[in-house]
Amino acid sequence: MQECKVLIVDDDTINQIVLAFILENLELKVDTASSGKQALAFIQANEYAVILMDIQMPEMDGFECVSHIRKNPDRQHIPVIFVTSEGKNRKFIDQGYHLGAVDYLQKPVDGDILISKVKVFKSLFDQRMALEKSLLESQNIQRKNDQLLNFMAEGVLGLDKNNIITFANIAACTLLTSDREKVVGRPIKDFINPSASDELWEQSEFNQAFKGGLCNQHDDAVFWRNAHENFPVEYTQAAILEDSEIVGGVVAFQDISERKRDREKLINLARFDQLTQLPNRNMYWEFLSKAIASAKREKQQIAILFIDLDNFKQINDSLGHDAGDELLILVARHLKSCIREGDIVARVGGDEFAILLLNPRDIQVAATIATKILAQLYEPIHVFSNDVLARASIGIAVYPENGLSGTHLTKAADTAMYHAKSCGRNTYKYFSREMHERIQDDMKITQELHKSIHKNQLSVNYQPKIEIQNQHIVGFEALIRWLHPTMGQISPERFIPVAESSGLIKDIGDWVLLQSLEQAKQWNDCLNENNKITMSVNVSAIQFQQHHFARHIIELTHKSGLDKSLLELEITESTLMKNPEETIQQLHILRDSGIKISMDDFGTGYSSLSQLKELPIDVLKIDKSFIDEIDQSKSGNAIVSSIIDLAHSLDITVVAEGVEHENQLDFLQQKHCDIVQGYYFSKPLNKENSTSFLLQ
Ligand code: C2E
Ligand code: MG
Ligand code: MG
Repeated sequence: MQECKVLIVDDDTINQIVLAFILENLELKVDTASSGKQALAFIQANEYAVILMDIQMPEMDGFECVSHIRKNPDRQHIPVIFVTSEGKNRKFIDQGYHLGAVDYLQKPVDGDILISKVKVFKSLFDQRMALEKSLLESQNIQRKNDQLLNFMAEGVLGLDKNNIITFANIAACTLLTSDREKVVGRPIKDFINPSASDELWEQSEFNQAFKGGLCNQHDDAVFWRNAHENFPVEYTQAAILEDSEIVGGVVAFQDISERKRDREKLINLARFDQLTQLPNRNMYWEFLSKAIASAKREKQQIAILFIDLDNFKQINDSLGHDAGDELLILVARHLKSCIREGDIVARVGGDEFAILLLNPRDIQVAATIATKILAQLYEPIHVFSNDVLARASIGIAVYPENGLSGTHLTKAADTAMYHAKSCGRNTYKYFSREMHERIQDDMKITQELHKSIHKNQLSVNYQPKIEIQNQHIVGFEALIRWLHPTMGQISPERFIPVAESSGLIKDIGDWVLLQSLEQAKQWNDCLNENNKITMSVNVSAIQFQQHHFARHIIELTHKSGLDKSLLELEITESTLMKNPEETIQQLHILRDSGIKISMDDFGTGYSSLSQLKELPIDVLKIDKSFIDEIDQSKSGNAIVSSIIDLAHSLDITVVAEGVEHENQLDFLQQKHCDIVQGYYFSKPLNKENSTSFLLQ
């Protein structure tokens, strides 16, 4: 706190000393000035509790000095006590009081009187200082609070008891209008519900809470900006009470637009496919279960269409991913244009879409829509600068006929879709009773297959492969057989796909490989160096997905002791299609170890003759369906002979599969096919018969 000071102004040094001496014990500081001019300089620089002013001084007398003091607005109220030897001259006294003197003291000054007077002024001064200090402090706090409020990201509004805004921080002003003046002084209603009638406002949650003297929080409300544009807010309101009477209120609020947008984005990400903006797989299931619940209640039907693009992979591979993406976007648009408003299209997989027809007039509608989709897709689609022919296979399942649960219905639609694919693609199929039975059958086969290995129901047959020019046996193809005690002989064409989809193929594949390697080793051990025979083993795409498949095969072969060059793995085009990069890499590893690779069933898949040269293969097996065409048509012969020529130009050995007739053999011989395999020479034989065949 500022020190209390007294100024003594007197041209007589003795007087200064006497006065200062009197005040010595008063805990105050005494300044002395010997002239009016010096006094003014002191007063300019200091604040005094009181000035003791001599009147008669040379140059500037006491009155003149005081009148100068009073000119400074900050010094107008300094108490001045005139000290004079002039006696009680009335005119004199009046002049002093006129100048704001508070008192007169007669020289020689009575010490006690002076002390008591100065004490009064000292105490006044101290009180004033204390007051000023606390005022300053509270002003500081207020300023700090104001700043805090102002710079808070939350909008803060102060209200009076009539809901008129009396305070608004910067955030509040910015959020509510462009102009601060337009916030303070206005009713809060203008920003909460500008268009509400007074009656409605009266009953509003905000007003009720306020009137009830309550605190209230709302995390999903809207406030209005300039009365015509709203934004989402979260707010807290509290009434201010004084002596249990409502005197005002405070509202703190936050603009939650961004938070809402982020949340919506997240929801969108989780529920919509980002490429096509169609509902994704999750949403499909959600829609489906809701649709089933409502169809069940209302006794209505639902039709599900499962749509798979037949040639998406090739388009993607040949034109690039961007083109693939663009195609999916365009297909999604096509699909949407084929359905009614209330029906749903979802993207449920890479190139798989599902349509839900809710309460169709009859199930025929599904066929109509499927036909429409196929017809639309039949037109070339313009993707960047290419005309693309998208083709689709569609499976249809109907609630409640084909299943009561989402899972069953989806499985049914999926099965029907696969059926459409196997019927030559670019078509649609309804789920049928046969398909249902097929699913049941598949389940039974899976169960039985699990036990088959341990129950010794599996065996391997070997079909000889004959070199065409000298009719010598050059190898065998291992073909699995399954004899089930009650179901009888089950064809590999029936159970291998089931084993593939259940993953059992890995165990079965290993088992076949071990049997065949062992057998080949046994046979070759009895043959001389020039007559060694190869062993061909079929491997499925699923086996290639095993970790380090190539290394695994190499190890097994190594263990068996068979020369690696005598093992030939038969793969199909679809194996290559599944995961081309990884598969080709594995094939290279296998070939580098000496193992041969054979392309089975050539011509039934997608790969064209021109793609052959890029594939790491040693042998090509022309599919039986082409061999059957020999001598049946001109083109049949031409196809076979051009496959042989092309393969030879690439140094690939050609095997003809399923040769049954002599004329086929003659033709193949004429065209320099290398090896033949088929019933003409021998059916697949069991181990013993194969051995006798070999010895012949
Ligand atoms: P594939 O590899 O193309 O085998 C040739 C199929 O044609 C064999 O049928 C064989 O018995 C049959 N075949 C051979 N010559 C003739 C003929 O002159 N006339 C007729 N009508 N058929 C002939 P199979 O043994 O029923 O095998 C069918 C398919 O099952 C095989 O086709 C192969 O893809 C698969 N498979 C067989 N064993 C295995 C195996 O151990 N592992 C894997 N992954 N697949 C296997
Ligand atoms: Mg084969
Ligand atoms: Mg084949």
